[in-house]
Amino acid sequence: MSRLESFIRRMTAQKDILNFVIGEISNVEGPVLELGLGNGRTYDHLRENLLGREIFVFDRAINASPQSVPDGDHMILGEIRDTLAFCGPRVKAEAALIHCDLGSGDPTTDLATKAWIPPLLNARTAVGGIVVSGLPLDLPDFVELDLPDGIQKKRYFLYRKL
Ligand code: SAM
Repeated sequence: MSRLESFIRRMTAQKDILNFVIGEISNVEGPVLELGLGNGRTYDHLRENLLGREIFVFDRAINASPQSVPDGDHMILGEIRDTLAFCGPRVKAEAALIHCDLGSGDPTTDLATKAWIPPLLNARTAVGGIVVSGLPLDLPDFVELDLPDGIQKKRYFLYRKL
């Protein structure tokens, strides 16, 4: 498979999964947390499909095109290890959905992320809420959900808070 085909497959799976979880959280109150603005693609998809839902976006820097950057109240800049731990006064409610798109492609960085992020996700997710992650995570207070049909196993990981 060419890199182009692999990229298209990955992006299609990401869109299908986000559409699936948007349906899954329809009865769960709370904001959405987008961890990793990147170029703003998935943030833009979430805001177009979750009208009326507050979305807070976290990144250490803004590298997205200007039309895909949230307003100042909803862009939380800094290292997520710090900002997710201390965002309570701004975000207030526990999240219905956390999209954790922090995979770096570097095995050491990804291992470190997998070690520090689970307790922060646990603290910020509402009961019944969902964490979507590109990295497998050890989340004892969550149950892992099956991926929607047609999506290759281990491409993404879905967890619902018990
Ligand atoms: N969801 C994005 C999109 O659709 O364009 C792509 C996100 S990209 C894979 C990952 C982003 O997470 C990068 O912009 C990077 O700066 C940010 N990031 C990764 N680890 C981070 C950390 N520990 N703290 C803050 N930002 C981080």
